[in-house]
Amino acid sequence: MDSPRQTNQIRIGSLTIGGDAPMMVQSMAATRTQDIAATRRQLEILTAAGADLVRIAVDSVDDVKALAKVVEGFTVPLSVDLQENYRLAEKVAPFVQKLRYNPGHLHHHERNKTIEDKVRWIAEIAQEQDCALRIGCNAGSLAPDYKQRFPNDRATALVAQATDHCAILDKIDFTNYCVSIKDSDPHLVVEANQRFAAERPEVPIHLGVTEAGMPPDGVIKTRIAFEQLIPHGIGDTLRVSLTVPFDDKGQEIVVGRQILADIEAGRFRSVPKGFFEGLNIIACPSCSRVENERFIDLAQEVKEATKIAAEHDLTIAIMGCRVNGPGETDDADLGLWCGPKSVNLKRGKETVGTYTYDKVIDALMIELKSLIC
Ligand code: SF4
Repeated sequence: MDSPRQTNQIRIGSLTIGGDAPMMVQSMAATRTQDIAATRRQLEILTAAGADLVRIAVDSVDDVKALAKVVEGFTVPLSVDLQENYRLAEKVAPFVQKLRYNPGHLHHHERNKTIEDKVRWIAEIAQEQDCALRIGCNAGSLAPDYKQRFPNDRATALVAQATDHCAILDKIDFTNYCVSIKDSDPHLVVEANQRFAAERPEVPIHLGVTEAGMPPDGVIKTRIAFEQLIPHGIGDTLRVSLTVPFDDKGQEIVVGRQILADIEAGRFRSVPKGFFEGLNIIACPSCSRVENERFIDLAQEVKEATKIAAEHDLTIAIMGCRVNGPGETDDADLGLWCGPKSVNLKRGKETVGTYTYDKVIDALMIELKSLIC
């Protein structure tokens, strides 16, 4: 193994990450934030499983009000995911120790302001409220200008976006930040994080394979990425994103710690021959935006029903909401994004139709059979 990479240390409440601090294992509440009881239950489950930090998504003023009640009495360090509404930073910062913003979502609001001004404003809030920041880059939500500049090269687009945002924070001497670069393809996660770490070796990195899907495949995809990065000193915190029932979310922590223990002990799992051949099912892990909890069962039903295509090199994506679902299913051969009462079925970028949760598998199978027969 290479000698460990030594990043700057940053502080998230009572936690220190980076440098020689132990790798931190974190997760995220999968429930709607406004469902206060369910989200508090997520915090209980994740802290009982040993989470070092828990992230909660916030997208509206009502979510902020709910957050204030959700966090009452919890001492685990918390992060807020600002999703598309970065302007909520000011309202949520007093309740948490870290803010995650997605550079790909900053253009939605206040279009007359520059991205640099918006980042500076978020950093000022973080500074005032003693919060850390995460620049959270995701291949499924790259900012439009990076998509345009690098249309066929997601890794380069992600690294460029991440380093540009680091440069903005550096310019104003804000140092309490880390970066994440995620994709559903573990190979791309490895490539992009290696390239970012080579360019900015001092910046702490949060690792994850997004939309890894259901166990065991979701665990294997994540392990593939982490085994290629962590032994080389790349990564200071991690999350394993799994599509599992809300009450089983503690698995994300347990699996994360198991992967770390295996890497530490030199127990590397070889990827089964042909793992990347054949049908690939990706599914989001759910978050506060999830529109119907049935989405978790639907993902399992899709996995069962599509076994007939196991040998075919196709991707099926299942996403839990209307906000990220339409875009994040674009690259799949068949995509399903779930609304409160219905599921939208896509073939590539084209919408096939909208179906009830009970009927969508039949429609999916018609499309699937036409692709494989
Ligand atoms: S697709 Fe929607 S519900 Fe799923 S994790 Fe992303 S934002 Fe959350």
